[in-house]
Amino acid sequence: MHPSYKINTMSSYLFSPPPPVSLAIKGLASRFPINRLFFVGRNYHAHAVEMGRPVDKSVERAFYFTKAPQTLTPSGATVAYPSETSNYHFEMEMVVAIAQPGFRVKAEDAHTLVYGYAAGLDMTRRDLQLVARDKGRPWDLGKDVEQSSVCSEIVPMPGLIIESGAIALEVNGQIKQSSNVDKLIWNVRELIADLSLFYHLQPGDLIYTGTPEGVGPVVPGDQITGRVEGVAEVALTVGSPA
Ligand code: MN
Repeated sequence: MHPSYKINTMSSYLFSPPPPVSLAIKGLASRFPINRLFFVGRNYHAHAVEMGRPVDKSVERAFYFTKAPQTLTPSGATVAYPSETSNYHFEMEMVVAIAQPGFRVKAEDAHTLVYGYAAGLDMTRRDLQLVARDKGRPWDLGKDVEQSSVCSEIVPMPGLIIESGAIALEVNGQIKQSSNVDKLIWNVRELIADLSLFYHLQPGDLIYTGTPEGVGPVVPGDQITGRVEGVAEVALTVGSPA
């Protein structure tokens, strides 16, 4: 080994590491550093039905997928219509921001992990997601789409569990999704308790709690606006194809 190689690995990176991913926090100069992005699948009955997979909570558990933190995109961005899809969908979701570690958390203690909430979009290559689902393949190409995890600023509500509030989305001012987070199949307490059976939840983890019914496609030029009552608004402009 050339001696300079050993010296470099001891003292520096081969190339500049990417900057940390973070979100603005309402009312604070500090930013919220992002650790992981968790997403809940099929967590509103009417959406599960529209996807052709109804949920029976008495015999099913919640399921999850992840996206790379690098997919996080701040609200207000213009994002190019992604490659390799002709059915790019919006999904409006309430997002929980975690700021305390927890593993095997009891539902009655779940609030202790909560830092705050945000309004998010889980943008999805629906055509590729459904092919993957029906072939039993991973969802990554459908879900882990670059710039697909849109999120508002984090609104601090430490220790609070949100149990209700309108959740809605419009495309070009036309209402597409309108529901209430009181319709979550697995609520915030249950999600934190269940997810923490699989993962050591960490400060900086976000949980996208699932979308209500009414998901649909966008085209270049579309303006998406959404909100979670009492939390925040989120916006995205769909740009020209990548
Ligand atoms: Mn989703």
